[in-house]
Amino acid sequence: MSRMPVVFSGHGDPMIALREDDVTRGMRAVGDRIISEHGKPKAILAISAHWFTKEQLVQSTNAPQQIYDMFGFPEELYRVKYPVKGDLALSYRVVKLLGERVKVDNGWGIDHGTWTVLIHMFPDADIPVVQLSTHITAPARQLYELGRQLSVLRDEGYLIFGSGNVVHNLREIEWDNPNGSDKTLAFNRKIREAITSGDIETAINYGLLDDAKYAIPTPEHYLPLIYCLGAADGARAEVFNDVCNLGSLSMTGYFFD
Ligand code: ZN
Repeated sequence: MSRMPVVFSGHGDPMIALREDDVTRGMRAVGDRIISEHGKPKAILAISAHWFTKEQLVQSTNAPQQIYDMFGFPEELYRVKYPVKGDLALSYRVVKLLGERVKVDNGWGIDHGTWTVLIHMFPDADIPVVQLSTHITAPARQLYELGRQLSVLRDEGYLIFGSGNVVHNLREIEWDNPNGSDKTLAFNRKIREAITSGDIETAINYGLLDDAKYAIPTPEHYLPLIYCLGAADGARAEVFNDVCNLGSLSMTGYFFD
């Protein structure tokens, strides 16, 4: 089995689960490419912006619950099913690799950060998923190192997948703007240039960039990307879905292979 890639995807508004557009087709193309070039992953280690915690947690259950951790959306969204199993062997490997730096916790589930994207990437829901939390109080460099330690999982047939947004500022949303604001576009471009040129330090030290407070007012949507950069372990980055919308949201995804 060949070494699995690492994928970071934007997720945006949860209604994306029900849409079909260029962005969801971009997600689908990523899933199809992984299966055709590498075979079906044994399981997915999913780092979601929506399981943000003050310590590093991982799920370990054969039967994780799909959770609807979003409020006020149309009823049909709460009927979307993405019934994946867990994978105890993958949870065990994560615990083995991280030792005391991770705790098992099954108090959460497969959240909308994960399922609204995977439903497009792998619509058959036949690849088990284990969620790893986004540890929001740890320094980004620590999360990068943690990702690096997990990169060996790629040689064992596991896909490492992060779901968040490079730019995510709900207070600055412009509902009538189909594109990104100037600040969003500029910040997204700086991160894209850094990642595609292998300048990981700029991505880790994102707080030093202009408009970082606008782009990343809270870190939970950005940090899944840092785990992915660590797990990529120097692999070349390709960009997909490089679009910004609603003013202050970036959907830009990265495929590391
Ligand atoms: Zn989100």
